[in-house]
Amino acid sequence: MLYDKKRKYGKKKFCRFCKNPELEINYKNTDILKQFISEVGKIEPARLTGACAKHQRKISNEIKKARHMALLPYIAD
Ligand SMILES: [Zn+2]
Repeated sequence: MLYDKKRKYGKKKFCRFCKNPELEINYKNTDILKQFISEVGKIEPARLTGACAKHQRKISNEIKKARHMALLPYIAD
């Protein structure tokens, strides 16, 4: 099958931000950003979040901003 390689990491995931344009990626929106950081406060890789490259970049930028504003815990990568 053509998709076998992509299935290596489990269920196929969608970029939820492409799917739902109403979801705003913003440093103030910590409820959303928290879903993209691990228990130890690290930003999850796109492979795990299922976000596309464009939105993943946006997410990590906003997480960094949120950390700067002390809205999210800061952990050095
Ligand atoms: Zn996307």
